[in-house]
Amino acid sequence: METDTKANGVASAGPATESARTIKIHKPTETDMRHYYENFLPFNLIFQWLNHSRVPSTDFTHREFAFEHQNGAYQRYNSFSDSADFKKKVCKVNPTRFEVGAIYPIEPKNRKSVSKALMKPLAKEMVLDIDLTDYDEIRTCCKGTAICDKCWKFITLAIKVVDVAIKEDFGIENRIWVFSGRRGVHCWMSDPRIRVLKEQGRRAFIEYLDILNVKSKGKKGIFGMKKPYHPHVERSLDILKEHFVEVILKEQGTWDSVEANKELVQSIPDVRLKNALLAKWKDLPQRTSTEKWIDIGELHDELRVQSFDIVDWRKEMILQMLYPRLDVEVSRQMNHLLKSPFCVHPGTGNVCVPFDPSESEFDPFDDAPTLHEIFTENETDWRETKLRKSIELFAQYVEGLQETTAKREREDLEF
Ligand code: ZN
Repeated sequence: METDTKANGVASAGPATESARTIKIHKPTETDMRHYYENFLPFNLIFQWLNHSRVPSTDFTHREFAFEHQNGAYQRYNSFSDSADFKKKVCKVNPTRFEVGAIYPIEPKNRKSVSKALMKPLAKEMVLDIDLTDYDEIRTCCKGTAICDKCWKFITLAIKVVDVAIKEDFGIENRIWVFSGRRGVHCWMSDPRIRVLKEQGRRAFIEYLDILNVKSKGKKGIFGMKKPYHPHVERSLDILKEHFVEVILKEQGTWDSVEANKELVQSIPDVRLKNALLAKWKDLPQRTSTEKWIDIGELHDELRVQSFDIVDWRKEMILQMLYPRLDVEVSRQMNHLLKSPFCVHPGTGNVCVPFDPSESEFDPFDDAPTLHEIFTENETDWRETKLRKSIELFAQYVEGLQETTAKREREDLEF
């Protein structure tokens, strides 16, 4: 194993040095991966999760899995007959990771025996992908694959905003959040009626959540939103507003630099105010983001600007900076595959562990063990390792999901 010594031993540091924490990196070897698959990865639970019961059904046998091989090759359309077959094949192939796809009318491995028209996906979990890469234009603390305590707050807030919306607005009960192993999280939703959503329904679902729509609105942002705001927008604002000063103005210091002045005033619709602000800050190059934020309100009043509502502008600015940025393509397409829970991130060696955000905030620096840590704790028994908590949480979740599915099937029979 390659060890990144810098990353070790700082996880328990106090608040003063908290921002120095980085993700643990301990790249696994091929031998590590095989050992992990043979002894630790909970294949039977993954099987039950995707199968929705204990006896193999087409929800599992007709399910597509993709392998990412050690040489980088990507192989789609694998399928397995049961939990034992699943484990046997994964251990044999020893991929760097495997991904979960949709359920098809036939076993995906036999797709060549039928016409292409028959290989249309029938069902799949609804998934969400939130990744710090999509925050690169607004985070100032890290770039690329790096993350720290400061920018992980974007993810924590995103989970808060999205989780309540999926639960309250869509009534989804069966959902599990999973760390992606480096700089993001996935959410898998398995309620029976959401699994059968067609692409149009998936698009509507994700468009409801994706209010920033960064890809099409880009730098123009969401300013001038229709009022009154949608209840989901108001609720999101309630969650996000108390973090704006700390996260954006203080920690990120998004507009601290002189170069950022133009960016900050870009969304102000009043030219007179815009120019007055730029002139003021030109003379004060040391002005912090917090001071600039206050200047905007003060000059707005001083100049008696009538052309726009400053309170609404502030709200929209908070949304623009802190509202979740979603990788919508992952959610939209039914045949899109996503890395399975409990896979290992090949670049960091971190296990992609499930977590429950309603219990506590997920800490990527401490809550996701690396293979190295697990093997050090115990060579073969997951119960004796840090993995125990996540496996037990997942087992409990899968049990609940099976109960919901069974209940739903009973209800269907009664009609
Ligand atoms: Zn950071």
